[in-house]
Amino acid sequence: MTLSGWTLVQTHLLDPLLNLVYPPVCVGCGRVGALLCDGCRASLERNAPILDEQPLPPIASVTAIGAFAGILQQAVHALKYEGMTDLAEPLGSLLAARLSAAALPPSLIVPVPLHASRLAQRGYNQSALLGRVLSTALAWPFDPALLLRQRATASQVGLNYQGRQENVRDAFMVTDSSVVEGRDILLVDDVYTTGATLHECALKLEERGARTIRAAVVGRAGSTGMS
Ligand SMILES: [Zn+2]
Repeated sequence: MTLSGWTLVQTHLLDPLLNLVYPPVCVGCGRVGALLCDGCRASLERNAPILDEQPLPPIASVTAIGAFAGILQQAVHALKYEGMTDLAEPLGSLLAARLSAAALPPSLIVPVPLHASRLAQRGYNQSALLGRVLSTALAWPFDPALLLRQRATASQVGLNYQGRQENVRDAFMVTDSSVVEGRDILLVDDVYTTGATLHECALKLEERGARTIRAAVVGRAGSTGMS
């Protein structure tokens, strides 16, 4: 059996069995039964929504479910580093609700890409998983291949804004300019920290003639544009 065949068997036949033996545990409170229980989901919904309309140009706005802390931070960590890809569904749905409330124009959803080596290592791009959920929920188009991370970059963790900006400079390229010209684009990432990564992506899209560029993230770290 091929590896992908085996993965398919695992996904479709073994998951219900594994759920009986190892039921999912809520990343927020540890309650058994779901990766994000109803109580923790409701508490995320009650978080003060974030709509930052003065981030770094050319990004016109940043929408987030809430501040990157507590349950939201734990959920992003589990999605990104612990293989809990099923969390993309509740987090993406919550973010879609925030975007609907912000009444943004329908936009082309473009996730921040991972470099091929990182993608191979992790097996998935968490931002692409979120983007797909947004696309389904909002009925907006989705293009996970529009941006390419052409250069592997060091982790941004621990770097200040200038360090992060240097680290990601020219790391991204637009794969098809004809798709970008005149389009409203929504960049999707898991967290907005200094904004350096999203800013670098936005610069490339602006160069290729995007009409507007906005960003949607699960969590917003800090409270000012430069944090
Ligand atoms: Zn919970």
